Amino acid sequence: MVNNELLDMLIIGGGPGGLTAAIYALRGKLKTLLVEKTGMGGQIALSAVIENYPGVDPISGAELMAKFEEQARGFGLETESAEVSAIEDAGDHRRVVTTDGEYRAKTVIIASGAKWRKLGVPGEAEFTGRGVSYCATCDGFFFRGKEVVVVGGGDTAVKESLFLTKMVEKVHIVHRRDKLRAEKIHQEQALAHPKIEFHWDSVAESINGESTVTGVSGKNIKTGEEKVIPVSGAFIFIGVLPNSDFFTGDTDKQGFIATDRMMATSMPGVFAIGDVRDTPLRQVATAVGDGALAAYSAQDFIEKQPART
Ligand SMILES: Cc1cc2nc3c(=O)[nH]c(=O)nc-3n(C[C@H](O)[C@H](O)[C@H](O)COP(=O)(O)OP(=O)(O)OC[C@H]3O[C@@H](n4cnc5c(N)ncnc54)[C@H](O)[C@@H]3O)c2cc1C
Repeated sequence: MVNNELLDMLIIGGGPGGLTAAIYALRGKLKTLLVEKTGMGGQIALSAVIENYPGVDPISGAELMAKFEEQARGFGLETESAEVSAIEDAGDHRRVVTTDGEYRAKTVIIASGAKWRKLGVPGEAEFTGRGVSYCATCDGFFFRGKEVVVVGGGDTAVKESLFLTKMVEKVHIVHRRDKLRAEKIHQEQALAHPKIEFHWDSVAESINGESTVTGVSGKNIKTGEEKVIPVSGAFIFIGVLPNSDFFTGDTDKQGFIATDRMMATSMPGVFAIGDVRDTPLRQVATAVGDGALAAYSAQDFIEKQPART
């Protein structure tokens, strides 16, 4: 099915970046459609709490995103539930192919975010959903009173470990370096926490179990010492990979989309924002800033196009 109406803007992704772009575009009176493949809200909707979004008291990610969506709906946001599989340059417009048909749009904003990087060790795939998890908010409850491993040492790993301490007996943080890369405030809380034990300079080599996880085998990369940590769960927080398979323009080696300072990609009329972009910081606040700027740039792009005859 081809939707013949020519949109001013098609936004891919309903996370904080996409919703912000939508608010700015709709207030600029652009005919806008947002296409989202799962549920609105993006990755932050899975986070138990967000404390660093300015002007908002600590709030769950889902609640914050409900506010974003409500605000966008108030300006007339229209959404479609579908997955985008291709963007093609059709000269005076972009053709966007989705699982629910094709769309024509003068501009496209890619706000498709990122997904969890997998560890790639034996047992990870086998026990996913049976002890291996990528979301403490979703699954932490299942490990009440038990011990778990968290793999990673960045901000998400540390913050999610602190969240897990509210329900589990103990969190073992397995980190390949000898110091954390998290925000200072989270580092201090984690380092002083009685329920958190650190396994520095260590990597997880396999996740073991029978019907569910019973332990994580790891190795100290400096001393070569091997150990098995007996736990019921393993939470993996080792970074993200971009949701950019459908994009054929310029990216970095990992697939994060290259943009200029106006959020323009190498494809004319196509902009990229937030976590999917080649950017040094992936946060709600940065996705929001990118979204506002991209909507402004897209409007400018439309105004500078020669009038169609
Ligand atoms: C557990 C956790 C805790 C976090 N804590 C914080 C925090 O405290 N503070 C903070 O600022 N940030 C935090 N972050 C990071 C923050 O969530 C991200 O930086 C932010 O969500 C990025 O927004 P985005 O709009 O770029 O993309 P996303 O939020 O990733 O949204 C992208 C959306 O696009 C959709 N999509 C993907 N591909 C397609 C496709 N082909 N077709 C259609 N739709 C598609 C996805 O389903 C998704 O809904 C956290 C992240 C996680 C996972």
